[in-house]
Amino acid sequence: MDKATIRSLTRFFTLLAVAVAVGLLQGDVELYLLLALCGYLLWHLWILYRFEAWIKAGAKIDAPDLPAVWGELVSYIIRLKQRSRERKRRYKSLIKEFRKSSAALPDGAVVLNDKNTILWFNKAAGSMLGLKKASDRGQQIMNFVRRPEFVDFVEQARPGGRLTLAAPHQPGHHYSMELVPYGSQQRLLLVKDITREVRVESMRRDFVANASHELRSPLTVLTGYLDAMANDQSLDKEWGKPLKEMATQAERMTAIVDEMLVLSRLEAEENNALEMVDVDVPALLEAIRAEASAGPGIGSDLKLELASYAHLLGVEADLRSAFNNLVENAIKYTPAGGRVVMRWEADADGARMSVSDTGVGVEAGDIPRLTERFYRVDKGRGRDQGGVGLGLAIVKHVLQRHGAELEIQSQPGEGSTFSCRFPADRVLSS
Ligand code: ADP
Repeated sequence: MDKATIRSLTRFFTLLAVAVAVGLLQGDVELYLLLALCGYLLWHLWILYRFEAWIKAGAKIDAPDLPAVWGELVSYIIRLKQRSRERKRRYKSLIKEFRKSSAALPDGAVVLNDKNTILWFNKAAGSMLGLKKASDRGQQIMNFVRRPEFVDFVEQARPGGRLTLAAPHQPGHHYSMELVPYGSQQRLLLVKDITREVRVESMRRDFVANASHELRSPLTVLTGYLDAMANDQSLDKEWGKPLKEMATQAERMTAIVDEMLVLSRLEAEENNALEMVDVDVPALLEAIRAEASAGPGIGSDLKLELASYAHLLGVEADLRSAFNNLVENAIKYTPAGGRVVMRWEADADGARMSVSDTGVGVEAGDIPRLTERFYRVDKGRGRDQGGVGLGLAIVKHVLQRHGAELEIQSQPGEGSTFSCRFPADRVLSS
């Protein structure tokens, strides 16, 4: 028991003792006890009233000087108030620092609620998205960036999703946007100016496209002369081997240049709307099968299984090139006597074109890298088989443009299955 409580109890019992003593003297103990208790109660009510008035007034009036336990309570509340004031001051200075640092950020940051209403934004976001300080808070973010792809991006809010967008208020600039969920149903929209990166990327594309284009003519001349020399009977026999090797290498270079040109074209058309047509996939696959079966170097049994006759909405030449690449690879990486099966199937979730083989297969660690440009699992083996290392990069690009995905399953020494999964909205029932 603390001192204040002991003091209060002592005071209370002393009062009772005095009341009893006076009562005994006056001959009416009960009356004096009652009077003493009523007095005691009134006194406490008065203290309670002062205490309440002080609490209600906050910091506006000085703390009352109250006796015993009430005094202890007052000093405890004063200590609590001081601590909370200190905490408030610390938060205020933290918020000030946060505001200062977020204003200095080169990237834009906008806080949105679950209805996509703007709750807060920093200076960079203001100038990037054309938001004005006070008046635009509380408005929908879509009112400031009225692009369908942006509206879709904000409404769908796919985890980890990013959007690259031509700047709405700064011609020639490009922004990358990301939505990060936090707290209870709030989201942070991060906007980064990637104009420099987009320019460098476009310079790289132009360089590759131009270099490939420029290399084509000299290569045609070279292969022409090499052909003529190979057929020239007047040349010494010892030229036969080097000429053959040169012709093989020139052919390889032509294949590389051709595939680089295809990739450049696909990249250049990336942002253009594609002109999609009805593609009869079963007929296309049958044509690819017939062509591959008649081609040189086919040592495996090549089959086509049609579990569906559905058509696809797509670009026929690109789909042909992608499917052809998968079939050529399956044949290339399957030793003689193996089996290659092309399969076309469709259900409510979409359609799938797969090529399975019983070939050399790929280690699990290599699978994620197969679609990188010039990536070959076994450099020597790929080159010996005329591989360029761009085929699967082309497949990936074509599929991306059709909203499709490439899935790869493989077991070293047992075989592989390369599947193209098309979404249901691209599938047309035959
Ligand atoms: P390449 O022109 O070398 O075939 P691709 O881009 O088409 O280039 O393929 C990349 C690499 O993936 C190949 O070098 C090969 O190692 C591996 N690969 C592709 N298809 C298969 C397959 N069906 N079986 C085993 N390995 C494959």
